[in-house]
Amino acid sequence: MSKRHNDLWQASITVIPGGVNSPVRAFRKVGGTPVFIDHARGCRLFDCDGKEYIDYVLSWGPLILGHAHPSVLSAIRQACEKGTSFGAPTAQEALFAQMIVESVPSIEKVRLVSSGTEAAMTAIRLARGYTGRDDIIKFEGCYHGHSDSLLVKAGSGAATLGVPDSLGVPADFARHTLTLPYNDTDAFLQTIQQKHQTIACVIVEPVAANMGVVPPEDGFLQTLREACTTYGVLLIFDEVITGFRLGLGGAQAHYGVMPDLTTLGKIIGGGMPIGAVGGRAKIMDHLAPDGGVYQAGTLSGNPVAVAAGIATLKILSEQNPYEALNRLSGNLADGLRDITQKLSIPSYLTRVGSMMSLFFSEQPVRDFQDVLKTDADRYRRYFHAMLNKGIYLAPSPYEATFLSTAHTEEDIERTLTAAEESLRGL
Ligand SMILES: *Cc1c(COP(=O)(O)O)cnc(C)c1O
Repeated sequence: MSKRHNDLWQASITVIPGGVNSPVRAFRKVGGTPVFIDHARGCRLFDCDGKEYIDYVLSWGPLILGHAHPSVLSAIRQACEKGTSFGAPTAQEALFAQMIVESVPSIEKVRLVSSGTEAAMTAIRLARGYTGRDDIIKFEGCYHGHSDSLLVKAGSGAATLGVPDSLGVPADFARHTLTLPYNDTDAFLQTIQQKHQTIACVIVEPVAANMGVVPPEDGFLQTLREACTTYGVLLIFDEVITGFRLGLGGAQAHYGVMPDLTTLGKIIGGGMPIGAVGGRAKIMDHLAPDGGVYQAGTLSGNPVAVAAGIATLKILSEQNPYEALNRLSGNLADGLRDITQKLSIPSYLTRVGSMMSLFFSEQPVRDFQDVLKTDADRYRRYFHAMLNKGIYLAPSPYEATFLSTAHTEEDIERTLTAAEESLRGL
């Protein structure tokens, strides 16, 4: 650790809880202290000592065009010149909403908020207001932001009432959240058949990406859709990560399964704080001021964030980089698979488009319990070896690896060389 890094860390932990403004940045899952970033460009991060890294975190998903994309920066600069917030409608908000509605098949109307957390919280409230029911179903290992109803883990045994996953979440809230294993259609069908009368919605990451990447098995999303339709329960796809990552239409277009409500965030803000909730007009019109479900935000639809979002979505729709991203990502995944095989390291690689996870696991990983059985200590050593070699992976075995359009074949080659050296040395 350099003196500068040490000084920054000491200063941070003195005045910021845990030294960070979001817990997973603190390196607690891998040990050590976080890298302090000075600036970034393309797929490269530069730390406070000038050391360079190839970045596979990309601000936890948003930066599909890489850091500091010239068109996005220029849009942000131009927006700033016109004023940073008005608290009144702008032409850009309507344009941005139009772009989202045209891209995401199930969205007819969309409301902008300032984070993914807010989007999920709003979607849940809307579902409860629309159906007049209080309970919700979520899946273990899926993350939907840190609002009270969603920071809930499974009680003992499947299909029991949820218990708070954080101090400060009242048990009275948590008991309205039922938590089920991801990819377990039987447990889901049993629960919804028994309890549908009190269930407002099912919320799911259509590709789980907050326990590492865990793809939905064939039929899982379709089963959710069919049962929700049968019982008048709303299906919410939390596409905060998958939206505009798996294609312009997100996971719903990729898998051909349409939710009633969709939450977006991350990529649609082009690196600025934003979130969105959208869906069928009939449901969305229940939001205030037309409907009785209250939702608001001083900085909602912020012109600078919207400008960054428009610039990002414009590039994505004009250049349609998804096939190229998929190829690049496939090369990284194939390379990692080959290396782990050659070195006889038990591993299981999951990938959907430009997001993937290398799990150090003896067995396939299809839900959160499988994720917990993976070798976290091997990941810790792998992470630090890679960091040393200038490859910035997520500082947790339970997070995704993301690619951007700024990564090149050469970056992938360098990464694979580093991975082979790192894994050989463990
Ligand atoms: C990141 C994330 C959120 C929360 O978004 P924030 O902007 O961090 O509040 C919600 N859902 C999913 C699937 C996410 O990955």
